[in-house]
Amino acid sequence: MRVRVEDIPPEGLEVEFTDSRAAAQDLGPQVAGVEQAPWACLRLERRGSLVLARGRYRAQVDLECSRCLARFGQTLAGTVEWAFRPPEAPRGEEVRLAEDELDVIFYQGGEVDLAQALRDELSLVLPMAPLCRPDCPGLCPVCGKEQNNGACGCRPRQTDPRWAKLAKLEEH
Ligand SMILES: [Zn+2]
Ligand SMILES: [Zn+2]
Repeated sequence: MRVRVEDIPPEGLEVEFTDSRAAAQDLGPQVAGVEQAPWACLRLERRGSLVLARGRYRAQVDLECSRCLARFGQTLAGTVEWAFRPPEAPRGEEVRLAEDELDVIFYQGGEVDLAQALRDELSLVLPMAPLCRPDCPGLCPVCGKEQNNGACGCRPRQTDPRWAKLAKLEEH
């Protein structure tokens, strides 16, 4: 979703869009799939060469648990406050004020790319190491089985360093 800056009237512009082309890899390596395409409803306002965008967003993605590798759905929703500015914008008083409060995004070619800004926002709010649940036990270190649906029956790993040598011998 791109909007030409000159198309934004003095009274502002309300824009609602769905980024149906957003793929998992556009959002982050921890994203396994996009269940519900990123959506946003924003109010755009011009302040000189600056474009302020405020509004809400929503998306639903499938993440891969960093411990047990299971896929699980997660809804992302929140609000954004962006200030788009051209790289050559004059650093006036008003510009500086807005930049202190808002996330600054550069725009080029006379248009703001709202879909790209939303993709970047989503990659920022996504957890780096997602967990299917806070206390996910992960995979069994012995057999590699997922532990969420009950233990596999393997012996717990010996943590006493004196056993480490023995365990090594048993492997061979
Ligand atoms: Zn997990
Ligand atoms: Zn096991």
